[in-house]
Amino acid sequence: MRKKIVAGNWKMNNDLQESLKLFSEVANMVKDEVSNDAEIIVSAPFTNIYALDQWKNGSDIHDKIKLSGQNCCWEESGAYTGEVSAKMLKSIGAEYVIIGHSERRQYFAETNALLAKKVDLALKHELIPIFCIGETLQEREKNIHLDLIKNQLQEGLFHLIKSVVKTVVIAYEPVWAIGTGLTATPEQAQEIHAFIRQLIVEGYDEETANEVSILYGGSCNPSNAASLFSQKDIDGGLIGGASLKSRDFTDIIKTFN
Ligand code: PEP
Repeated sequence: MRKKIVAGNWKMNNDLQESLKLFSEVANMVKDEVSNDAEIIVSAPFTNIYALDQWKNGSDIHDKIKLSGQNCCWEESGAYTGEVSAKMLKSIGAEYVIIGHSERRQYFAETNALLAKKVDLALKHELIPIFCIGETLQEREKNIHLDLIKNQLQEGLFHLIKSVVKTVVIAYEPVWAIGTGLTATPEQAQEIHAFIRQLIVEGYDEETANEVSILYGGSCNPSNAASLFSQKDIDGGLIGGASLKSRDFTDIIKTFN
């Protein structure tokens, strides 16, 4: 059975104190209210991951919430001022790292080839990549979105061998739905998730495809999470805005109760 996952992406929000406050609120709500075994992930600014990990270790939630980076460098180490390596993230308590978020692709011109290198380094340092793919509105309107998604997967992820690719998490995030309040309908999202799973069948095999968790991201909130997550090929969500509110994020996690 593949994992059900709810991952919050805080993006460039929350300083150290704000991060500790939000994280402890979420942890307490999860402890009191969540009865399912979904994997819960918080992707915090890297400056705050160490403190969150320390807080977590001193609390009774221990391993219930995993920490994630939002990006890592495509090189192992060296003269890359301002970058953060996969090894560094691992050393401060991260267990996952988001790779290829559309904001990185758009504002930092990250290509599929570059992302493939990040995926390799993340895995080398035992971080699980949350590999993001998805089309813009123009690409959907031109009806080239399926080819685009196929390329994103083939060039960024499908170089991995079968035993490794099945450990990776994929997040389908239509760019037109991110932070816009526009959500893909459950049917629209399911169509693309089924397409992604079929691509894994073609690139690997059915067994592998059945093991990869595929998350939906894009204006997911407590009101639409249940209908999205009940779709056959949707295994949870990557949550931006709603993960900044402990009540909303916990309610989304409770969808699986
Ligand atoms: C995201 O940034 O990954 C995301 C899904 O954002 P939002 O939920 O705010 O649309």
